[in-house]
Amino acid sequence: MPSLNEIRSTFLSYFERNGHQVVDSSPLVPRNDPTLMFANSGMVQFKNLFTGVEKRDYTRATTAQKCVRAGGKHNDLDNVGYTARHHTFFEMLGNFSFGDYFKSDAIPFAWELLTKDFGIPKDKLLVTVYHTDDEAASIWKKVAGLSDDKIIRIPTNDNFWMMGPTGPCGPCTEIFYDHGDHIWGGPPGSPDEDGDRFIEIWNLVFMQYEQFEDGTRRELAAQSIDTGMGLERIGALLQGKHDNYDTDLMRDLIEASAHATSTEPDGPGNVHHRVIADHLRSTSFLIADGVSPSNDGRGYVLRRIMRRAMRHAHLLGSQDPVMYRLVPALVTQMGAAYPELRRAQSLIEETLKLEETRFIQTLDRGLRLLDEELARLPEDGDLPGEAAFKLYDTYGFPLDLTQDALREKGRKVDVSGFDAAMAEQRAKARASWAGSGETKESTIWFEIAERIAATEFLGYDTETAEGQV
Ligand code: ATP
Ligand code: MG
Ligand code: MG
Ligand code: MG
Repeated sequence: MPSLNEIRSTFLSYFERNGHQVVDSSPLVPRNDPTLMFANSGMVQFKNLFTGVEKRDYTRATTAQKCVRAGGKHNDLDNVGYTARHHTFFEMLGNFSFGDYFKSDAIPFAWELLTKDFGIPKDKLLVTVYHTDDEAASIWKKVAGLSDDKIIRIPTNDNFWMMGPTGPCGPCTEIFYDHGDHIWGGPPGSPDEDGDRFIEIWNLVFMQYEQFEDGTRRELAAQSIDTGMGLERIGALLQGKHDNYDTDLMRDLIEASAHATSTEPDGPGNVHHRVIADHLRSTSFLIADGVSPSNDGRGYVLRRIMRRAMRHAHLLGSQDPVMYRLVPALVTQMGAAYPELRRAQSLIEETLKLEETRFIQTLDRGLRLLDEELARLPEDGDLPGEAAFKLYDTYGFPLDLTQDALREKGRKVDVSGFDAAMAEQRAKARASWAGSGETKESTIWFEIAERIAATEFLGYDTETAEGQV
């Protein structure tokens, strides 16, 4: 049974053998893109190659890219611990063509790797194509011999990718694995596709057009390929597991978490261990890439993930910092592939320990307040926004932490009440400053406060939009 580390190597050497340059993952903090919080796919570091702004001495590349999806357009934070397939941190394996090969090579590359090198039975695989992309559908039919019912045409944007409002765009094809009818879920495009029976493993994007401001499109002269496959998802499948968290690497972290909290890895504590294992990876990799916990921007996303993990450790009964003790297990698993983890090990441990030590002081009291508030409410009542705001303001509970805590009890936060309480506090602070005469410092203070509020807003807005299950 191949380990995740072996699968990563098999992928990269397969594409290297097929003329691709092996390129290192870029850091999680994008260097060339201020609009993006974290690298969230393999193509991020190659944007300028796809638009033609930059040229390199290779036209084919392959990577294992560190990705974080915990905010903004792609936010999988609320899925972690609950679905079999989502992480906040994961590795995306990809192959890229910059104006080199197109669909008629990209599809056979993927099919050959999956069915020959990885030996996946063909009858477990099915694909989606964009509804108008007859070309992709016929290549699939020819290359893979898939019947029409296994080439599902999807009319939504799930199968049409755009880099932004303008620029390269095109249809995608997604490859799914059927884990069997003992697991709930329907095929892509069906009403219950959100289940975990059919798991998307690989997404191939065909950059075929350029989109202009007036909405028109033109065929690109240099058509390109961008693909992404989650290492943990292909790993689960190749290890005969359904769940990403049952792969060797994740399992090791779950066991480290169980050991550190003197609890069982499976049973009722399992969901907490899953969250802890996932958040350990995202926080450690973010710190290794230079992010430190703070009250705005990237640092606040990091802080939110850390605090969320700490609450789960607390739920396992731990009264002392835990996360920092798990770092050695992570470094053992991933330090060879990502040497920056080894280099930053002591920084990661110190940062986690400091943050945990501080947060533990208010966590207990905050949770007690939360319980008291809930006890006062009618059954199923939403937590008033004011209470959520007090938890945020006095006890340092990020809104999503409170929402996560309530989710287990089937409750929600009144988010608009929370917004109102936040706005009111800001207005009051402004008024009292104005009364005292505006100084330079106070202007700066308000600028900072506004910035914090802006990132906060982004944070919970996307979470409510993407929904609680
Ligand atoms: P899903 O529909 O399952 O959320 P996606 O369509 O959002 O996946 P893509 O943006 O197409 O995912 O990313 C390419 C690949 O990266 C996916 O096919 C999947 O294998 C993997 N992937 C995406 N998001 C995650 C995640 N949160 N955790 C682990 N792997 C992921
Ligand atoms: Mg997704
Ligand atoms: Mg998808
Ligand atoms: Mg996809």
